Amino acid sequence: KVKNSGRNSFMVFDENMRAETLHQMSMEHRLRSAVLENQMHLHYQPIVSTEGRLLGFEALLRWNDAVHGDVSPVDFIPLAEKTGLIIPLGAWVLQQACSQAAQWHRTGNKLMKMSVNVSSIQLAHKDFVTTVLTALKETGLPAELLDLELTESALIQQHDSSYESLHLLRRFGVKLSIDDFGTGYSSLSYLRDLPVHTLKIDRAFVKDIEISPESRTLVEGMIDMAHTLHLRVVAEGVENRKQMEILVEAGCDEIQGFHISKAVPADDARRFINVSHGEPEIKAMAGAAKV
Ligand code: C2E
Ligand code: MG
Ligand code: MG
Ligand code: MG
Repeated sequence: KVKNSGRNSFMVFDENMRAETLHQMSMEHRLRSAVLENQMHLHYQPIVSTEGRLLGFEALLRWNDAVHGDVSPVDFIPLAEKTGLIIPLGAWVLQQACSQAAQWHRTGNKLMKMSVNVSSIQLAHKDFVTTVLTALKETGLPAELLDLELTESALIQQHDSSYESLHLLRRFGVKLSIDDFGTGYSSLSYLRDLPVHTLKIDRAFVKDIEISPESRTLVEGMIDMAHTLHLRVVAEGVENRKQMEILVEAGCDEIQGFHISKAVPADDARRFINVSHGEPEIKAMAGAAKV
């Protein structure tokens, strides 16, 4: 009996591996055609000031596949990085997000910013600066309205050429943010040397800020440190009013999270922009804390 179950579990393991490999191959194949045939789209999540004023949006990739259904970027971005598809995909995201932001800039709100996530593979690519500048030029979006989000780990493992790219983009006026701050790296010395404007505190730190005094102290410390370095601070993953109030009190500059809105299609984002001309409405929309 014991012998049998050992043998069976080996076979099950083998079967699982086979299924997993097939799944991976299928995903890779579907991802390739989705990227090459432009079947992805972007949703936009509002970012507001602590007064509840709409400042801009973060562009987030959405992929609905005929075979695999809705696939999360948490799953397909690593695959896109592994296969090199992140290069054409990332270029498309930049183009699409800039084009949308330029349209809002022309017809809605002159100051609406657009944040775009950038993978370390994109940043390390020799054509990265050209890709960004081309997107700006072709869409007419002012460089100051584009904010590139890079994760800590992406910034740490970078070579000189990536630093040069960031400095060059900054000189053109492009804004730079550190995404998922606090999750990547233990040494903070790099913060001094990077040409970034904004630090985005990862939602892991915001999650229990209203119940855990330790979390609250940690976030307050992050905000103070960022301000000492003249960086703006965005809190990610703000899900309720209490969290928002604590962050406002701690001096956080910008808020993003389900408490304001999840990422929405462009038409819905446009509606946020339209009401944002009336301050009371945006306050209602944001459920913003009284400040
Ligand atoms: P991220 O850049 O940190 O984006 C924020 C993620 O948190 C988004 O997940 C967003 O939907 C989610 N989020 C926002 N507010 C809340 C909240 O209050 N509660 C919770 N639980 N979640 C919240 P999403 O869209 O699934 O994206 C996941 C990650 O995938 C992103 O994390 C980013 O690293 C990556 N990603 C998404 N789009 C792109 C892209 O165009 N290019 C690259 N390179 N990466 C992307
Ligand atoms: Mg991001
Ligand atoms: Mg993040
Ligand atoms: Mg993240």
